[in-house]
Amino acid sequence: MNFDGINEKTLVLVKPDAIQRGLIGEIIGRFERKGLKMIGIKMMSLDDDLLKNHYSHLADKPFFPSLSKFMKSSPVVAMCYEGLEVVNAVRLLCGITKSREAEAGSIRGDLAMSVSCNVVHASDSVENAKKEVERFFKPEELHDYRKSDYEHVYAEDEK
Ligand code: UDP
Ligand code: MG
Repeated sequence: MNFDGINEKTLVLVKPDAIQRGLIGEIIGRFERKGLKMIGIKMMSLDDDLLKNHYSHLADKPFFPSLSKFMKSSPVVAMCYEGLEVVNAVRLLCGITKSREAEAGSIRGDLAMSVSCNVVHASDSVENAKKEVERFFKPEELHDYRKSDYEHVYAEDEK
């Protein structure tokens, strides 16, 4: 069997509010149940340089200093997931930015109420995902292995 077509990658961060609220397991469980393959995970403390790059599209916004403070208020859990069209699939699982309007059933829709404290980050495009995975993970921190449930997660013509 050939699993080469399923190697799109995306970055997920479990944000400080979720760390404080004890939601790490709940959030990881949702990605597991979806059938995604985790290929990297680590707890890390973010610094200003990394946050300026990561949130460069928001650097001029008035809320950037408080966002930055929030993202440094505790470590985050960074994860890399792999799968077929995984960037889009993970964005849908997370729900929209404003948690109190996010669709019920999504992570933000079920677990959060805030715009800023919205429990997860997920890459928003294949192009950005590539950059974000490289920003957060060294090549040796990403693991190449065969996940046996791919037999049942994907159909023959999707592999
Ligand atoms: N954010 C905020 N206030 C806003 C918009 C965004 O505090 O008005 C924060 C929020 O934590 C969000 C992050 O900045 O998740 C990144 O914003 P983006 O627009 O990229 O949203 P996302 O891709 O996380 O849904
Ligand atoms: Mg974003």
